[in-house]
Amino acid sequence: MLLFEAREQVVHYGKELVRRGLASGSFGNVSMYIPEGKVLVISPSGMEYERVTPADVVVLTEDDVQLEGSRKPSSEIELHRALYRSRPDVLAVVHTHSPYATTMACMGKPLRPLHYAAGYAGGEVPCIPYVPFGTAELAEAAARGMGTAHNAVLLGGHGLVAVGADLSFAMDVAEQMEFLAQICWRCEVAGGGIPLRDVHVAQAAAALKGYRQKP
Ligand code: 13P
Ligand code: ZN
Repeated sequence: MLLFEAREQVVHYGKELVRRGLASGSFGNVSMYIPEGKVLVISPSGMEYERVTPADVVVLTEDDVQLEGSRKPSSEIELHRALYRSRPDVLAVVHTHSPYATTMACMGKPLRPLHYAAGYAGGEVPCIPYVPFGTAELAEAAARGMGTAHNAVLLGGHGLVAVGADLSFAMDVAEQMEFLAQICWRCEVAGGGIPLRDVHVAQAAAALKGYRQKP
């Protein structure tokens, strides 16, 4: 089987979406881009994460030639591709419908940097207006919303996209954006919240890069 290790990672982090409370049913998706072979390794569409095995993970060339397997790739393949195309530093993408991030996205509200977890995103997380799921229009709007320096964007009426140099970091970004969204929601309800200064967000971003122990 081609790229077994990458497929195993996609399976593992799909299950992490469930374990970390970020998945809703089979919705959401994860992928990796391998620049050496210019291939995309992405979760299958509409499949419960518990059921997914490495053989179900889809491997595609730049021209969408499916190298192995018969599973349909994620319906958000264009979204993943758009982010890899616009950001050479991005090698992993995680998309969730996690409850608090999605609540904020449904209110059309950005995530303000009220907690230093915003360092994972590089500052305030913007929210783009609703665009139908699985479309090239959504892919383009999300890549534009993410910009060149941010690691997360909210999709209006839909969910969250997080990126990173590997799946471990992109998953941490998604998890911490869910935490930040919960804090933003609580502060919104309580009528408060003090945004961190840019310098403090930048300090947090630098410190969080080396926060995790090596596997
Ligand atoms: P999949 O097609 O990967 O199951 O994705 C569902 C989804 O989240 C669409 O936005
Ligand atoms: Zn979705």
